[in-house]
Amino acid sequence: MNTTFDIIVAGAGHNSLVCAAYLARAGLRVLVLERAREIGGDTCTEELTLPGFKHDACASAHTLIQTSPILRDNELGLDRYGLKYLFPDPVLVMPFRDRRSLTMFPNRDATVKEIARFSERDAQAYEQLLLDWDAIKASYTRARYNPPAKPSNALAALEATSRGLEAVRWRFSSAVETVEERFEEEHVRAFFLWMSLMTMAWVDEPGTGLLPLSITAGRQAFSWTTPVGGSISLPRALAGVVRECGGEIHTNAEVMRILVENGRAMGVVMANGTRRCFHSSRQAFAGCHWTRDARR
Ligand SMILES: Cc1cc2nc3c(=O)[nH]c(=O)nc-3n(C[C@H](O)[C@H](O)[C@H](O)COP(=O)(O)OP(=O)(O)OC[C@H]3O[C@@H](n4cnc5c(N)ncnc54)[C@H](O)[C@@H]3O)c2cc1C
Repeated sequence: MNTTFDIIVAGAGHNSLVCAAYLARAGLRVLVLERAREIGGDTCTEELTLPGFKHDACASAHTLIQTSPILRDNELGLDRYGLKYLFPDPVLVMPFRDRRSLTMFPNRDATVKEIARFSERDAQAYEQLLLDWDAIKASYTRARYNPPAKPSNALAALEATSRGLEAVRWRFSSAVETVEERFEEEHVRAFFLWMSLMTMAWVDEPGTGLLPLSITAGRQAFSWTTPVGGSISLPRALAGVVRECGGEIHTNAEVMRILVENGRAMGVVMANGTRRCFHSSRQAFAGCHWTRDARR
């Protein structure tokens, strides 16, 4: 193949596509190579049961990304490609074995009232949890959307919030410790621990202590944010931006190896043996995802 590119992105999951979309919009010629039949990775929507019934096979709640400039400021104009979010009411209902249930509503006061059915004290603790997250969330959002800072700088930013050293202590606690410290009633504790499991982290591991705050506050603010058409609507919209800026996306295209000459990436070798090369003066490899073979 003769076509050359400034950037080659291996994988068309939504993270790689975000990277590809910004680079394409910056004027670089971008090629995205996806080994699967469809783009999207774990942000996929498939007919898993009956024809016409589409399911999100992995990711379903697009909550965290709501605070990203991509959506918050509509930086990429993804709505032009049909991306639209729903904010379900109620957010979720948690049934318990004793036939009781706890419902979270987008309306904060309604959620507080619901928790109060189990414990007045825990209802107040929930309000305090949201206040605590409000006090520290800016330092987290800054960290997420800026180049990685040294751990010491990240901790200093947390300590500089109005919650000071206390916030650093939460950061190093486990989610279990946070929940046990803040809530007393067993249904309420179960609810917050389940919320903390959303990132599949071990909730008794030190370092997970802020999950009960961040995940619950995210759901409280943005509900169980659901894209119309399923999770796949996000990667499809991102792919629209890549293509409108002249980028190409190829599926059934597995990257096996990165070509390196004199210490510089020159291109990639595909599973079918073809090579895709970079433009000689501006080469870069945005390899967000690697197979074992691709690492060789
Ligand atoms: C069961 C489950 C539920 C989840 N629920 C949620 C949720 O509700 N909300 C949420 O925010 N997150 C959720 N997540 C996490 C979320 O799905 C992932 O964090 C996200 O999809 C990761 O996106 P990514 O682009 O980094 O990688 P991926 O989605 O993994 O995409 C990687 C892509 O690269 C391709 N690829 C890999 N190697 C190569 C190669 N050598 N050549 C070419 N292509 C290659 C793969 O085929 C894939 O398409 C869930 C994850 C799982 C597994």
